Amino acid sequence: MPDPTDVPNPVRDLLDALAVPRPMRRGSLSERYMRCNKPGCPCAERPEARHGPYFSLTRVVGHRTRSRLVSAEQAATVRAQVEAGRQFRKHVEAYWQACEQWANAQLDAPAAASQEAAKKGGSRRPSTPRSSPRSKRS
Ligand SMILES: [Zn+2]
Repeated sequence: MPDPTDVPNPVRDLLDALAVPRPMRRGSLSERYMRCNKPGCPCAERPEARHGPYFSLTRVVGHRTRSRLVSAEQAATVRAQVEAGRQFRKHVEAYWQACEQWANAQLDAPAAASQEAAKKGGSRRPSTPRSSPRSKRS
């Protein structure tokens, strides 16, 4: 029944969401208050007198953590970029799941599946692709 050219709606919708280009990044924004070590500055004793906030963007690349300082003016933008990246990742995951349901449906289709393939793939029925594709993580 499912035809590879007949794209299920969830797959199409998620692809549309993924196809919107926008500035985004991985990593996270951290906010810090620092002591300055100047003699007599109250920041040495009182945490609420510390200086800041200082923002930095942190990201792990391979085994190394990369940091980059971000100005207070840039912080809101960076936060939005990080959030956009998080959304993108969620969409990618949901897209995988929608495509895998689609792939299962293809295996389970009576016309397409040989007996062997049907056994191997378990007895999963072609479920309605609408069943929340982003609820599970693998
Ligand atoms: Zn100080």
